Amino acid sequence: MSTVSLQHIFKIYDGNVTAVSDFNLEIADKEFIVLVGPSGCGKSTTLRMVAGLEEISKGELRIDDRLVNDVEPKDRDIAMVFQSYALYPHMTVRENMEFPLKLRKMDKEEIARRVNQAAEILDITQYLDRKPKALSGGQRQRVAIGRAIVREPKVLLMDEPLSNLDAKLRNQMRAEIIKLRQRINTTFIYVTHDQTEAMTLGDRIVIMKDGFVQQIGTPQQVFDTP
Ligand code: ADP
Ligand code: ADP
Repeated sequence: MSTVSLQHIFKIYDGNVTAVSDFNLEIADKEFIVLVGPSGCGKSTTLRMVAGLEEISKGELRIDDRLVNDVEPKDRDIAMVFQSYALYPHMTVRENMEFPLKLRKMDKEEIARRVNQAAEILDITQYLDRKPKALSGGQRQRVAIGRAIVREPKVLLMDEPLSNLDAKLRNQMRAEIIKLRQRINTTFIYVTHDQTEAMTLGDRIVIMKDGFVQQIGTPQQVFDTP
């Protein structure tokens, strides 16, 4: 059984732009998958279809063996982190992280437990009472990741989460993501155009070009030049 199954997935925009063509992938539980390729190759579109933010034109998407093509984003067992942090500016870090759980009417103690745990994992406990504007870019992205993981989703989707950071922070956050992965029981699908990120993070890497999957394999398999 795979945790996420994409079978013959297509995305056709406006009836003529084929952004994703016959995408096939079976993702195992707790696997870290990276989608990599140049701008415009269909990475984001693929991720957004898994998230339910973009309709699937053709094909079947399953999460935990359930067909989810027509299931709303909030009813899929997923959470997503975007390139832009999309934090609520008027809320504190704690309130930002509580928000998705309050929306789901989780009880207060469980919310506090999850937020404190995520803050500890991401090393942002000392910022819980601050507003996002009082944080650096790296700290904000940690909060955005925190807000996603408090839901304890089966699948965590990340769309270029480090692209807005400078090179030094990016290296640091890459290490943080590796650490995060060891702490939470989640399957990752991670989009980047950065080969180094793909190499260091992925169990398997999917190389896309012009909407097609060119190659799928371990970092050694896909990046070893003969
Ligand atoms: P990537 O994430 O790899 O940069 P995208 O998935 O964003 O690629 O885009 C894939 C292709 O689909 C591109 O040609 C892009 O212009 C097109 N595309 C993306 N979103 C839309 C949209 N909402 N409407 C029409 N075309 C789109
Ligand atoms: P990225 O390459 O980082 O995925 P883009 O700059 O290609 O981002 O796209 C940003 C937004 O614009 C996305 O929501 C995407 O769906 C939309 N978009 C991209 N290409 C098109 C297009 N040709 N027509 C309409 N919307 C598009």
